[in-house]
Amino acid sequence: MPKDFLKDTAAAYDVVVIGSGLGGLTAANILARDGLSVLLLEQHYKLGGMATWFKRPGGHIFDISLHGFPHGMVKSCRRYWSREIADSIVQLHGVRFDNPMFSLTTTFNRDDFTQLLTTDFGIELAKVEQFFNTARDMNFYDDQSLTTGELFEQFFPGREDVVRLLMEPITYANGSTLEDPALTYGIVFSNFMSKGVFVFQGGTDKLIKSMEKEMRNNGVDIRINCDVQKINLSGGKIASVQVNGKTIRTRAVVSNANLRSTIFNLVGKQHFDKSFAEQAEEVRLNNSSTQVYMALDPDDSIPRDTGDLLFCSTADRFQTDLLLSRDITSRTFSFYYPDTRPEGKERTLIVSSTNAHYRDWVGMEKAEYEASKQDLIETTFDALEKYVPNCRERITHVEAATPITFEHYTKHVNGASFGTKFEGLGVSRALPQQIPGMYHAGSCGIIMSGWLGTINYGVIVANDVINHLSTTAGSPTAVTP
Ligand SMILES: Cc1cc2nc3c(=O)[nH]c(=O)nc-3n(C[C@H](O)[C@H](O)[C@H](O)COP(=O)(O)OP(=O)(O)OC[C@H]3O[C@@H](n4cnc5c(N)ncnc54)[C@H](O)[C@@H]3O)c2cc1C
Repeated sequence: MPKDFLKDTAAAYDVVVIGSGLGGLTAANILARDGLSVLLLEQHYKLGGMATWFKRPGGHIFDISLHGFPHGMVKSCRRYWSREIADSIVQLHGVRFDNPMFSLTTTFNRDDFTQLLTTDFGIELAKVEQFFNTARDMNFYDDQSLTTGELFEQFFPGREDVVRLLMEPITYANGSTLEDPALTYGIVFSNFMSKGVFVFQGGTDKLIKSMEKEMRNNGVDIRINCDVQKINLSGGKIASVQVNGKTIRTRAVVSNANLRSTIFNLVGKQHFDKSFAEQAEEVRLNNSSTQVYMALDPDDSIPRDTGDLLFCSTADRFQTDLLLSRDITSRTFSFYYPDTRPEGKERTLIVSSTNAHYRDWVGMEKAEYEASKQDLIETTFDALEKYVPNCRERITHVEAATPITFEHYTKHVNGASFGTKFEGLGVSRALPQQIPGMYHAGSCGIIMSGWLGTINYGVIVANDVINHLSTTAGSPTAVTP
């Protein structure tokens, strides 16, 4: 008999959280901490969503999305998770750029960037200060018509090298382009510039296990291998979810699944106002990624000054569309030294990441898909050779992931790495006005994505749910699927 992953669940909960990405986990934790009964349902056999890892023979543990996040994570993790989690966050000191326009190493914070821009790039100090202040003062309620490209043109006209320095890491970090609203750039860039780039020491496995422990202590009922098929309404309000052949009643749902699949698959277009549904149809998905995971022989190592995060490119000019092209000219290498997991085995790993279009990978026959992945691996070796000499001979394990891989494991439409584009945020926030008790907390909009963005969004939405439930009747409504 197949295992019943819902064995002994209650008939009803105050809140059902669908999906265990960082947004879903954080919302579940806050809600349970507030005394609500919470059921967390994850379709995969592991928690974490994109914040995940995998093990391979030889003692290798690869992180998928642990490349860097802003310092704000320390505060968010301390407040909404635990001191233990916050205390494991450490800074990356070696952020490198290497492209035909410039090669440099930076700590990626305001002081160092000011120094670089005024000396290496020859920009007037007052101009640099003005740019940083403008970016820092941007907020969600600002005018959204100014694009990032226009913002750069205002401050650094004709300076493609400066634009490359300022934009390349942010495009890598969230897929944003020069055509996106400037405020989405300003907020994310300023978050990083406050103190630099940080990671979680101990690896994603340690982080997610610590979060799981915290949630269990707070009473979250956690279930894996539970693929939610439907969210049911009664009288226009949330009533229950259908999962693994069971119907579980609830007063509120927080969906951490992709915004589009939440609206169109889990709830159903017919339950929304026509104009809202039209607006949701217009929401664009963010791009996806390819990654190549490489492990050095356990006895081998690379010098620390190779860097932690290396933005390398062979393209003469910086163009955001080139960063997404199948003919890859730009890669970001993350170097994981043995102190990434101080308590684990001494291993040196390298992950190459590139933004990618789903359309370039979907619909291939198996043989063609495997050949494309092999080609991705070979061209990655070619690019890495400059920084890790003889890498082909020294790497003892290599494999690639594509947009199809990300789609498969997280069910994100088109394997989107960062959910939806900016316009998704307004739609996500408006869900509860359409259906009382229905919420979404997951990557959408450039600001509410990435590790920090999704954790913070989980908190915002959890507070909305707490307010909603405190003003509505206490017991779950009757179910009419
Ligand atoms: C290759 C890559 C590299 C990245 N690097 C970084 C980085 O260095 N720094 C950074 O800050 N961010 C990075 N990110 C982005 C970051 O990982 C994500 O923005 C963040 O983890 C997404 O969290 P989320 O809450 O939106 O949920 P997701 O991680 O998208 O998870 C959604 C969850 O919902 C589950 N689910 C979906 N449908 C259902 C259903 N019907 N029933 C049950 N469960 C369901 C999925 O299985 C999944 O677990 C990276 C992303 C990728 C892909």
